[in-house]
This record gives sequence, structure tokens and C-alpha cells, in this order.
Amino acid sequence: VPHWAAGFFRVGEDGHLEVTPEGNGGPSASLYEIVTDLRDEGRPLPVMLRFPQILEARVIELNEAFRRAIHKYGYRGSYQGLFPVKVNQRRMVVETIARAGKPYLHGLEAGSKAELALILAQDLHKDALIACNGFKDDDFIRLALMGKKLGKNVVITLEKFAELGRVMRIARELGVEPSIGIRYKLKTKGSGQWEESGGEAAKFGLTTPEIMKTVDLLAEAGMLGTISMLHSHIGSQVTDIRRIKQAVREIAQTYVQLRKLGAPVRYLNLGGGLAVDYDGSKTAFYASANYSLSEYAEDLVYVTKEICDGHGEPHPTLVTESGRAVTAYHSVLVLEVIDTIKPPGEDKVEEPEDVHPVVKDMFDLARSISVKNYREVYHDAFSNKDTLQNLYDLGLISLRDRALAESLFYQIARKTLKFALELDYPADELEDLQKMLADKLVCNFSLFQSLPDSWAIKQLFPIVPLSRLDERPTREATLVDITCDSDGKFDRFIDLHDVRNTLPVHEIRPGEPYYLGVFLTGAYQDVLGMSHNLFGRIGEAHVRVDADGYEIERFVMGEKARRVIEKMGYEEGELAEAVEKLVRSSRLTPAEKGAFMEQYARELVGYTYLED
Ligand code: PLP
Repeated sequence: VPHWAAGFFRVGEDGHLEVTPEGNGGPSASLYEIVTDLRDEGRPLPVMLRFPQILEARVIELNEAFRRAIHKYGYRGSYQGLFPVKVNQRRMVVETIARAGKPYLHGLEAGSKAELALILAQDLHKDALIACNGFKDDDFIRLALMGKKLGKNVVITLEKFAELGRVMRIARELGVEPSIGIRYKLKTKGSGQWEESGGEAAKFGLTTPEIMKTVDLLAEAGMLGTISMLHSHIGSQVTDIRRIKQAVREIAQTYVQLRKLGAPVRYLNLGGGLAVDYDGSKTAFYASANYSLSEYAEDLVYVTKEICDGHGEPHPTLVTESGRAVTAYHSVLVLEVIDTIKPPGEDKVEEPEDVHPVVKDMFDLARSISVKNYREVYHDAFSNKDTLQNLYDLGLISLRDRALAESLFYQIARKTLKFALELDYPADELEDLQKMLADKLVCNFSLFQSLPDSWAIKQLFPIVPLSRLDERPTREATLVDITCDSDGKFDRFIDLHDVRNTLPVHEIRPGEPYYLGVFLTGAYQDVLGMSHNLFGRIGEAHVRVDADGYEIERFVMGEKARRVIEKMGYEEGELAEAVEKLVRSSRLTPAEKGAFMEQYARELVGYTYLED
């Protein structure tokens, strides 16, 4: 936990996972108790716990890291961060970041018209930046320019050259002087999953000939003074600091060159990419980062200063559009284990009098296995399993005998694994055994709705039981969701040295809830989630923690079935009418008809997840 939690979570003395939203040493609360209280209030699971204090802390940490770096190197410019709302547009997230960022002039970034519409209504500092990225039509540009006219510090980033003519035309029409940003297509690529966001083949940005054309056109129109920002982005979750340094070098050189051409660029924007160490390994592995926030800030400041000083150019205001690093920590998805599917082989099997000779051989193998012969026995059992399958396909063996043999095979496999794990270097072939013999914990959630990146790009998230952390876990498990899709599962888990196929968990005690927390889910997951199988958005609790305990500031209900169904083009009334017709024409008794219609109506307004 301490490796990935960045001081926001820890294991308490009672074995509960605790949140410490103001960092270790600050007030704490048990996540298990928060969930228990929510259940007592009648709130259904799964639930998302959000901690606004963590968002506030991250905004402050980011800005303070730059403040320290600026002071350390005697940098003569400042830092102004931007939160790209696409990372999480939830109202609570955007408003909390805007509020915490106000003293730092922290701004917001829009990638679409709808996002800009949302941003223009936010209470930001008047000098805070609003950057408009993404491809733009005339309306998007008009909205941005009107924002400028209304006194907001709106910068329109040219993502492609063709946008320039439109910005110039609409600015003339509206009588506004635009603030133009140029997105520079970096040659440097990031590292990790989003490597292709940078480099020459990247989707966005102007090439150097296009930048020259932009400068010439604006100069001809007497508008060179409107270029205020140079922008770049090498992809999200850049795991290797060397790529970041390289990118800063390239963009800072371009800044210097633009200044020499007379463009009064003031803002140097490195975009996103500040990574989150999801697995706590502090390496360049794709779920990690081999640098800290301070190192990131220092490198940006130092490299920019060095290059500007070398050319006698002023130090620009540094801008980053850090989204993942600001939001990832603030939310925890809480899942309840509702069932355990255990592979066979744990129960004793009695040998009947009359069994098929191959099954009899399996009984002999199961009796003879020992630390000395387990590999040989396992190989024999494996080939018997194949033989039995062939015999079964030919109708030469009964279902009962096959079932016996299968139980014995798993029994042998379990013993093999036990012996193998006692060795320092278990054979490779036995590694798969762990996965085969793992329990499957059925959890009441949809991976597609709540953790789409786990499915889409194999993103790793820390997953931890919320209680019994003072007790050694005795089982290994994979997790499965309740969608009708075999992809709806977790079978890769973080580990300090590798990726694990199973998660160590406790034996579930009947009658005692077992909750798992999925951590660092606050970036991208909320907005990319989808309603596969019509499982809708889940409920969320906004929790504040102080010295006296914790308070649920707000509970936002999850989507009702009706809402998710209607999104697919149905009308609630029409559905109810069609079902009523069906009921009327049926042979149900009047009481049954009434009861069923009542149940149907209840379903439409119910939560989409399992609710027992
Ligand atoms: N800025 C731009 C232009 C982006 O495309 C992105 C995301 O990829 C970001 C900022 C946010 O990046 P991150 O979440 O890595 O901070």
C-alpha cells in the first residue's frame, strides 16, 4: 500500500484500509466503516467513494512542486496549470479543482464545444487560462472568442493548420483579438501505452513548415502579436522521465525560435503525461513512473531555463495539462464479493467398487503423490485427463466416472502446486496451475461501466480488501464481474516486481461482507465507462474526513434501469404498455397480474446491479 498510495491510504491497526486525505499524519477514516454506514443507510453497492480533499491536495502538491522548482533554479517565469476536463468532467471533480486551484491561477482545458460550454460557467481566477484544444468548427471558435470578449483568458490552440484561417475570419467578424496557441508536432515520443500520441505520425499538431506558414500569415495580417502559447503533448502516462526531458528540450527550442521570429509567445505548454505510479514499482513499466512530481517539475523548469538563457529569451510561464496525476487518487471503487466459484479438488473423493480402469489409475496417482514424485504424477494425471476426454467423446465412459476423474485431477494439481511452491524455483509449467486453481470471486459490478481501461488497454489498478489486513490471506483468486461477458474479469494484478495472475484474498466467512477497494480510479474511468448489459452508472458518496470522523457530504444515486433503457431509444411508457397488454391477454389470476405489474414497475425504477 505505501508504495502506490502517495500517502492517501494506509493499513490501520485494526486491519482496515484507511483513507488519509490530508496525507499521513492527518485525520483518517476506515473505508470499511464508511461502506458499512452507507449500507446501513440503505445505499446499494457497488459504490464509488470520492474524496474531494484528495483532489484539493493534488492540485496544491502540483502547484507547490513547481513553486519550489522555480525558486530552486531562480526561474523568472511562473507556472500555471490547466486541468483537462476530459479526464473527469464530473461536477464535483471540476468544481473542486477550480476552487482549490484559484489561488494558483489554475485553469481548465476544453477538447470540445460541450466541454468549453461547461468551463465558461466555472468560477476561475480571471487570469487563469482556458485552453481550447481538439478539432474545431466555427461554433467552437466563436464560443472561445466570445469567452475572450467576456474577459476570460481563453487561448485557441491550432491543432491543424486549416483552423488558422477560420480563427482569423471569426475574430474579425466578432471584433475580438484572439489568443492563439500553436500545437507543435513533437518529434519526441512518449513512453508507455500512449507513445503514439507523440512523434511525426501523431494525430494532432502542426509540422514545422505549417508553423512557418502560420507565422508568415499572421505577420502579413498584422496579427503576429496574437500568438501567445506554444503547446505540445507527448501522450498520457509517460513512464520514463528521459522522454519528458527530451520533449521539453524540443519544445523549449521551438519557443526560442518562435520568439526570434517575433511571435510574443508567453506560455509554454507541455500538455499532459505526468504519470501515476499505479503499481508502486517506481520504474518505467507501463503502470508506473520512474520519477516523482518534484523531479518532473524541476526538469521542466531547469531545461526551459537553460535553453532560454542560452538564447537570451525571457522565461515563459510554464503550463502543464496534468489530468491523470491530479484526479487518479481521489476515488475508490468499492465492490462486494457476492459468491466464490472454487475449482474442484478440495473435497475427498471415495473410490467406488466398479470404475473405469483409467479412473482407477487416477485414484492410484492421487494416493501415491509425494514431494519426490509430484511432477511425474502430475504429467501422468494430465495425460489421463486427455484420454478420458477422448473416451467420453466416444461414449465409452459415464458422466459419473468422468466427474470422479476430474475431481481427482484437480486434487493432484492442488498437491502438485503445494509441493512446487515449497521450492525456490518452481518449474515454469507449474505457474499456470496457480491461475487454474484460483478461486473466482464474483463481484457485483460491471468492469465495462466502472473500469473500462482495465478491459480496453489492460490498465492495472491496485485492488485491496478493505478489512482483515491484519490476517494472512490464505486463498488466491481472480475476480469476475456480473456482466454476461467472459472479458468482464480481473486476472492481472499489480505486484512490486511483476504482474500477478491472482490476488491473495481471505477465505470468505459466511454472513460477513467482504469488500474489495479498487484504487486510483479517478482518471478517465468515470467518463469512458459504458452501459454493457445495461448496467448503469453507479452511486457515489462524496466523503470528507476531519479530526472528528468523516461526513458523507453528498450521495449521488446511480442510474435507474429506466434511464439506461431509455438511452437505447425506448420509452418507459411504451414498455409498460406493451407488458401490460401481455399480462392482460395471459391466464394469470388477477392477483398475479397485479403483483407482476407492480414488480415490473419497480424494476424500471430500480438499481441495475444485484440487490439482495
Ligand atoms: N492534454 C492533452 C492535449 C491530452 O490529449 C491529454 C490526454 O491525453 C492530456 C492533456 C491529459 O494527460 P494526462 O492525463 O496524462 O495528464
